[in-house]
This record gives sequence, structure tokens and C-alpha cells, in this order.
Amino acid sequence: MRAVVYRGANDLRVETLPVPPIRSGEILVRVAVCGVCPTDIKKIKYGTVAPPRVFGHETAGTIVRVGALVRGFRIGNRVGLHHHVPCLGCHACRHRAFAQCAQYKRTGITAGFEPAGGGYAEYVRVMPFVLPGVVKIPARNSFAEGAMLEPVNTVLKGIKRLSLLPGDVVLVAGQGPIGLMFTRLLALQGVTVLASDLLETRLRLAKAFGARHVFQPSSTGTTPVPFSDADRPPRSSGSLELLIQRITRGRGLDAAVIAVPSIEVVRQAQQLVRGAGQVLLFSHTKRGEQAELDLATICVDEKDLIGSYSADLTLQSAVARLIFSRKFDVRRLITHEFGLAETSAAVDLAAHPTADSLKVVVANGVI
Ligand SMILES: [Zn+2]
Ligand SMILES: [Zn+2]
Repeated sequence: MRAVVYRGANDLRVETLPVPPIRSGEILVRVAVCGVCPTDIKKIKYGTVAPPRVFGHETAGTIVRVGALVRGFRIGNRVGLHHHVPCLGCHACRHRAFAQCAQYKRTGITAGFEPAGGGYAEYVRVMPFVLPGVVKIPARNSFAEGAMLEPVNTVLKGIKRLSLLPGDVVLVAGQGPIGLMFTRLLALQGVTVLASDLLETRLRLAKAFGARHVFQPSSTGTTPVPFSDADRPPRSSGSLELLIQRITRGRGLDAAVIAVPSIEVVRQAQQLVRGAGQVLLFSHTKRGEQAELDLATICVDEKDLIGSYSADLTLQSAVARLIFSRKFDVRRLITHEFGLAETSAAVDLAAHPTADSLKVVVANGVI
């Protein structure tokens, strides 16, 4: 089969690999589509893990082989996959800290080599411990919708970390694919969303996804981050503050979701949330980043600074309902489709988004 093999930093090669053999408790899936995810991009760009590997974990396809011990799946089932699944029984899982579970940290889907998702290949082997994460795609839905189960799950999990009431006002900073998912899911919960992004095209989409208010920070540079990273407060921060004052009648934000990897945005959000409000970090996945914070905002003002990473198995059916009912129509997020041989170009586009690019996917045939 053809597979895109990571051979080192920024080195993806189309190679021929054997179709992975499966054991009795496993299934083999012919990949139809795989989303390009920022966490894979980082590993590929910076070479943070040892090669060789086949990346790609937002995968959907058709079951083509079923091990003798597997129950509940048949050849021909169209499915969406999750490459991480918690054990649900360990200390971390009892605390619902699923992403900290030792089993969860193992990757259970591979196209060969050290398991790394394998979605940028024609076939993937799905191991027994991630079978609870296999979701059947209804006939009327596309493979691309199935491939969005995993990223949407991570966003819903993040929202569950927030203690929100209907009518609360939440800033979602950054309206890339993840920011837009937050905007849509928060709006569906009756939250008033204020969406910010440097790109007007994304703000228009944010409105269509349910943002009540949008804000475009002024930018002097070309770096795609909202707000300026200069020491003095950026010119636009005054007007953002005024806008928030007006929307919340002087109360301040109930929460802010940071879907852009800027420290300045975190600092600003920490000021803009009300006492006992929450700031959720979703894009700060690079280790070693330091930030200065006024700790009294946490201790005295009771503002929570929290993070969320990865998916929550217990939200899987709720996510499937949202996507497959098209209450959250994820098809509008997918702007670019590349063939398997063009995976490298797909990763480049996702790493350097343009005004009209959102979710980028790699597809094998009809999605
Ligand atoms: Zn992902
Ligand atoms: Zn566990």
C-alpha cells in the first residue's frame, strides 16, 4: 500500500509499505479521509519524535478485515476512529483525567512502524484497546464528517471544563478550525460568543456559526495572532475592553477560550474575565513556554487558568449526535482536500493558513 512516512523534521515521503497484518482482536480499515491536525504538524515541522512513523489521526474509512474475536463490527462498516482510548478503571480515569491515563497515552492505530495514527496511508490497523473508540458513520453522512469526531470531541471536552450558564458571555480568541468549533458548540449551549480573529473571512464564518459579536484586532505585522505582542497595550485593546464592558454591562467576561498560541492573548484574557471567571488554554501545546502572571488574579480574584487536551471517550455519543444530525454541520469547516501523495502540501497549508483555508484533509478517493 502507499503511505506517507515521516523520515525526520519536515521530511515526509510517499513510500510503499506492507498492508498491516491484523491479529484476532483487531480490525483493518481502508482509509477514506484523514484530517490534518496541528499536533501532528508540530511533530513533523520540529521533528520532536523519532522517525520513521506514519502520522494522521483524524481518520475515517471502511472496515475491510475483522479479527475472529471482534464483536460488533462487520466488513463494509463505515467508521470514524479514535487513536487514544482510556481504560476507564485507573486512578487517572476515576478522576476523569482521561488524557493522563497510561493506556490513553498509547496510540492504538498504525499503518506500520511505531504507532502514530497511520491515517496518511491507505490502510490502518486498529488495536483492541481502541475499539471502544470506533464509531459507525450513518449512511447519509460522509467520511469527512466521521473524521471530525475526534477534533470536535476535544473541543466539547474543553467546554465541559468551564462552568457556564446560559446567557454567559465568552470570548473565543482565534477563529481557525478549532476556534470556530468552540464558537459553534458554545452558541448551541446558549452562550453569547464574542469571536476574535485577525481575518475578516473567519469572523464572517464565526457569525454564521453563531457568534453574537465579532472583534478584529488591528495588526501591524503579518503574524497570524490576534492582538499585538508589544509591551505596551495594543491600540485595539481599549476597544475590545469597551466592547466587553458594553456586552456584559460592566461585569466582564465569564470565560475566555484561547485558541491561538499567543501569550499576550492569555494575559489580556486574564484581565478581561470577571472575578471567578475562567481562562481556558487550548493552543499552548509547546513545552517550555513561560509567561508572567499577576498571581493575585488567581488567588484574590479567583480567576481560574485551566487547560484541556485531547478527547473524552464518555462524550463520544454526544459528539456523534451533534455531527451526524448536522446540528453542528462540520462540512463547512473543510475547505481543502489533498490526495495522499500531496500530504506534504496539505501539512504546509494547514501550518500556514490563508484567508480562505480552514480544515485541511487528506483523502483517498470519494469522501
Ligand atoms: Zn487532532
Ligand atoms: Zn485509565
